[in-house]
Amino acid sequence: MKSLREKTGYICDMDGVIYHGDRLVEGASDFVQWLKDNGKKFLFLTNSSAKSPKELRQKLARMGIDVATESFYTSAQATASFLAEQNPNVGVYALGESGLINALHDAGFYIDNVNPEYVVVGESRTYNFEQIELAVHLVLNGAKLIGTNSDLTGPSEKGIVPACRALVAPIELATDRKAYFIGKPNPLMMRHAIKRIGCQRKETLIIGDRMDTDIIAGIESEIETALVLSGITKREDLALFPYRPDHILEKAADIINLD
Ligand SMILES: [Mg+2]
Repeated sequence: MKSLREKTGYICDMDGVIYHGDRLVEGASDFVQWLKDNGKKFLFLTNSSAKSPKELRQKLARMGIDVATESFYTSAQATASFLAEQNPNVGVYALGESGLINALHDAGFYIDNVNPEYVVVGESRTYNFEQIELAVHLVLNGAKLIGTNSDLTGPSEKGIVPACRALVAPIELATDRKAYFIGKPNPLMMRHAIKRIGCQRKETLIIGDRMDTDIIAGIESEIETALVLSGITKREDLALFPYRPDHILEKAADIINLD
């Protein structure tokens, strides 16, 4: 297990690994400090497309953890760079929050509500009927339907909230088209992450709390995985999955003290 400390790169999920909502997971700030003190390359990944890296940086700063804006990678950024590789500088109709809109702008896309190449859907708290109606019309007119991630639900202070997959569903049903989803468990996001930190797969560790997103994405991109039990997946859930993580830890900070 000492080998987990000797990796060069760490790709780390956030919710359930670093924090739950606005509360830090035990030892999370020691773990991040350890990454910094030991000159590790690291990237914090989130499937949520709502917040931009700047907003995520601020959120962690409020909880006492200071890392650079470049240390975050969201499904919105992964979606924007996927689309830029496919079809750069075209118009998109985006249904989402600042994290998605900024990522699309940064990648060279412009907003087109009339004849866009893509309808891109992310997490949104201002989702309404007119937006779904327009998205349906645009998709029926030939726009390709893209979702930033396939999470059905996400956590909030109030409990469970519908996430991207649930918001895309009405558009899929009304158009009889299937969306393509970019975030985890699509291994594309892990491959982008590896390129960003500039590490080889062999020298990298993925840390996540979900078997069905983090761990499967790690397995499918052939990167060593550590499941932490500080979030969604519990030890008794492991038997329900036809695959297993390489390591199981109570929390990310356990890496610092492993023998
Ligand atoms: Mg998580």
